[in-house]
Amino acid sequence: MPEGPEVRKYADALDEVLSGRLILSLEARTKDARRWLEQNEKQIVGRRVERVISHGKHLIGYIANAFFFHSHLMMWGRWQTFTMSTQSKHKSNAPWLPEKDRRERARIVVKNGAAILLSAPIFNVGHGNPYELIGILATLGPDALPYRGRFNAREFQRRLFLPEHQGETIGAALLNQQIVAGLGNYLRAEILFACKLNPWLTISDLTMRNLSCLTRTIPRLAAAAYKRGATATESDRERMASDPALVYQPGREYGTRHLVFRRTNLPCLRCGEKIRQLRQRTIQRDDEEDERTRIVYFCAKCQDVNPD
Ligand SMILES: [Zn+2]
Repeated sequence: MPEGPEVRKYADALDEVLSGRLILSLEARTKDARRWLEQNEKQIVGRRVERVISHGKHLIGYIANAFFFHSHLMMWGRWQTFTMSTQSKHKSNAPWLPEKDRRERARIVVKNGAAILLSAPIFNVGHGNPYELIGILATLGPDALPYRGRFNAREFQRRLFLPEHQGETIGAALLNQQIVAGLGNYLRAEILFACKLNPWLTISDLTMRNLSCLTRTIPRLAAAAYKRGATATESDRERMASDPALVYQPGREYGTRHLVFRRTNLPCLRCGEKIRQLRQRTIQRDDEEDERTRIVYFCAKCQDVNPD
């Protein structure tokens, strides 16, 4: 499932291909967007895409004259981008976009470029402020991956300590997009491990030291995942790559990206104990929170968990 850093990469790719260009066509297959386009498609064609951004796991495209599109990829969705290559410009008959198939949810074509959304259940188009028109956007907490400035730690803490969350576990809270936006299962596991936090610790039991580690580690690991595709440091990755006992499949780059996520039964790099996995109850607040992967990975020794 794409988490904030992966959605930011899609937003970057769409921004590169679409922004500054005029929309030639915008088609959608999701129900609400299709209905909106039946009434309004003519208004959107010919308008310029201004900017494509992400907030947490949501992607928002701003179009001139206050139009917008919005997507959430849930488990399986992904965006693809295309630019008309110089070659196909010369051979004007050569198709430069794939044919539509049943996975397609939206297709935005601009001059010389396009973006296609596959398998995502949520795609909206509209006119006005998306944060007012799409209920769930207005509830999002501060982005783990801010565009400019620092992670809004004060707002994260304010939301974390709202009375309604005090009995929640920190493991569930980090997945709650209303507290901090953009964390999913791998970032949650790695942040808790980095801060030596028991995923089942309740929020009211967090110490100042725990809190200051979280506010430093959330943006640090989200940025590492965005920039390097890994939350493990380069030296930890080298250690895993050079010791076959530390990975499932020696030689596979994927196995060195994280320190606990999907490393069940492998030795912890810090203490040597086996990494464990357990299911953790998370809050099912709305369709945004419909994550099926609720397994939390941890080192029982480093994180002071009694797993039995
Ligand atoms: Zn350990």
